[in-house]
Amino acid sequence: MGDEVPARVQGIYEEVLRRNPGETEFHQAVKEVLESLAVVLDRHSEYTEMKTVQRICEPERQIIFRVPWQDDSGEVQINRGFRVEFNSALGPYKGGLRFHPSVNLGIVKFLGFEQVFKNALTGMPIGGGKGGSDFDPKGRSDAEVMRFCQSFMTELYRHLGEYTDVPAGDIGVGAREIGYLFGQYKRITNRYESGVLTGKGLGWGGALVRTEATGYGAAFFADAMMKARGESFDGRRVVISGSGNVAVYGIEKVHQLGGTVVACSDSSGYVVDEKGIDLAVLKQVKEVERERVEAYADRVSSASFVSGGSIWDVPCDVAVPSATQNELDADAAATLARNGCRYVVEGANMPTTPDAVRVLKEAGVAFAPGKAANAGGVATSALEMQQNASRDRWTFEHSEERLEAIMRAIHARCHATAEEYGAPGDLVLGANVAGFLEVAEAVHAHGLI
Ligand code: GLU
Repeated sequence: MGDEVPARVQGIYEEVLRRNPGETEFHQAVKEVLESLAVVLDRHSEYTEMKTVQRICEPERQIIFRVPWQDDSGEVQINRGFRVEFNSALGPYKGGLRFHPSVNLGIVKFLGFEQVFKNALTGMPIGGGKGGSDFDPKGRSDAEVMRFCQSFMTELYRHLGEYTDVPAGDIGVGAREIGYLFGQYKRITNRYESGVLTGKGLGWGGALVRTEATGYGAAFFADAMMKARGESFDGRRVVISGSGNVAVYGIEKVHQLGGTVVACSDSSGYVVDEKGIDLAVLKQVKEVERERVEAYADRVSSASFVSGGSIWDVPCDVAVPSATQNELDADAAATLARNGCRYVVEGANMPTTPDAVRVLKEAGVAFAPGKAANAGGVATSALEMQQNASRDRWTFEHSEERLEAIMRAIHARCHATAEEYGAPGDLVLGANVAGFLEVAEAVHAHGLI
């Protein structure tokens, strides 16, 4: 990755590089946004005078803490916990917690930075933050996960609050972990503060559609992109990488919208099922048994498993990378385009490398960045907060309607902003500029803080 950005923002980028050495994913995320902002600064001199962009690139607060716990054999384990409270101009810090061995400060910062703009695009009153730990839940017992979550929250609780910072799940953090985290928060504070975490269980403050929201939202977003081009999911072949929460519910909604998802994956490899992924089997394998996708191929006769390899070798009309950052590189992008892929919609956060985005653009493949396409999860978290604040509970239908309306509005806004700023069809620029303007206006209004 070169270090060149438009001259207008070069100084800002160099300052970010200097201040955050070695944090390559954070640099990548900042660079992508800055590349879109030169056109904005041409129109808004006040943001240059007040160093609004520089302030938005610097997290408001970064918390790093020790998480000691004991495994089932009695051995002491030590992990590192993070919470980056990036920006609170629009509302309390909001964003998930990721438990994965790859987690470090740079990863959390990149995710937090993306979250600021994503949350702004939802139109809901939420700021941006992210957290997590290098804890690896793989192979850990329920009791170990619980002890880890309790230790993690024993430090983190003092930084949280429904008006301050509201975490949720991300990779490695689902309903089980949110349950343990919520229980510990409640025990320490002696407050039933439902709105302090989202992604809660349905019986204790959780919201319908939150589990499905990121995957459903990405499918709605893809549908909106296709409709804008006079097309639809009808009869389309779709490949969705990953087999976690985003992928599973992305598959469900794509099937409802008329497309066929023929492949999904996990870190061990990918499965191809020309008949369309059977969701009941996939859910059983991944959610109940917590098994590898290979087990899907063992049970479904029309499916085959490919160990390792690249899921992007599977020809498709629509690709939805929904596993993790930088999973789709330039070679994969070239293969997708060569095989006739017309749409790439990011279900994960920054799964497409900058080189891959360039290849897709040159090949005329429509591309949707995660901060727009996967905003359905956090948008529905905001709906969960709304239900908690009013001690209310909405139906599935009402919640899904709200989610769909939000996703279609995000698409319309990114589309219109791209046109307004001279880059029709460029949803990367549209999302970055629209998200930035929303945050910058509030930051500016709050004075020099
Ligand atoms: N982790 C999700 C994301 O990347 C959801 C965050 C939330 O609901 O707060 O947007």
